[in-house]
Amino acid sequence: MRTAPPPISLLAWAGLAAGAGILSLLVGLFAGFWGVLASLALAALPVVALTWRSAVRWRARRAALAAPFPEAWRALLRQWCDHYNRLPEDLRARFEDDLRIILAEKPITGVGVEVIDELRLLVAASAATLSLGWPAYDWEQLNEVLLYPDDFDRDYEFGVDDLSGQAHPWGTVILSVPALCQSFRDPDDAYHVGFHEFAHLLDLEQTHFDGIPRGFDDAAARRWVEVREREIPQMLRGESVLDEYGAHDPVEFLAVAVEAFFEAALVLRRNHGELYELLVTYFQQDPAAWDDARGLTLEPIRPRPPRPRGRMTRRRLRPRLSS
Ligand SMILES: [Zn+2]
Repeated sequence: MRTAPPPISLLAWAGLAAGAGILSLLVGLFAGFWGVLASLALAALPVVALTWRSAVRWRARRAALAAPFPEAWRALLRQWCDHYNRLPEDLRARFEDDLRIILAEKPITGVGVEVIDELRLLVAASAATLSLGWPAYDWEQLNEVLLYPDDFDRDYEFGVDDLSGQAHPWGTVILSVPALCQSFRDPDDAYHVGFHEFAHLLDLEQTHFDGIPRGFDDAAARRWVEVREREIPQMLRGESVLDEYGAHDPVEFLAVAVEAFFEAALVLRRNHGELYELLVTYFQQDPAAWDDARGLTLEPIRPRPPRPRGRMTRRRLRPRLSS
């Protein structure tokens, strides 16, 4: 059970302590004992606020995980979520906990869409799939998810077959509901708008995306860039399981690679072994090994039609759903 309170970083504590010390010293020089006391009290306020916030989140997590995982949700996951089905038993339990924490902490708002349980589960399952191997991860950079009733264009008009998802650096993820449902319906076509958009948030460095998974050290980042440069020609020729959409932009390459890692793990491992191993190390998950364990075998790679370029977005790859 993941009930530990979200950690406050050592860096934050050290910064606060240093700030309080410097402030007290300065005030002490000019205002004497009572000035020091007052400045210490002021400096303690952020510490109290951080501690309070951490305690509130801890209580919310405990409440979210207190009851057994709902059987109806479990049935929905079995029906919809291929990654959940491939997981070993212990990781499946962690996935269920992660899902409930995400649902408890991240607002999911419908824009012209009723946000029913099934949709909330699909959103949370998208994020939980990516972060399952990182026990302390809590999607700090994600503020809200907006669900749209259809694809949209760059003016956020619906019904235009342009964008099916978008991730913003300030922490908003937009997902088209038909595209999200289609992503889960077809679990092995290396297309998943949920994985794609949440992968962009993993790439978020301060206020921008840079196409390098956050947390990679210099050596891993260099290796990532080398592998990417080797993969791109094959993608441009349409001979890769990696969507050609990711060949024109390092940011999109990362998102497309994440989609393939979870949706076409066996193909990625066989045909793009170095990239697969980098992603195994990064995500601390080995979906191809789990597919081996459940007896899956490779299928032929599907040819991909070329698509126009876009940034921080995901266009749909197939005809619109009739429902
Ligand atoms: Zn994108």
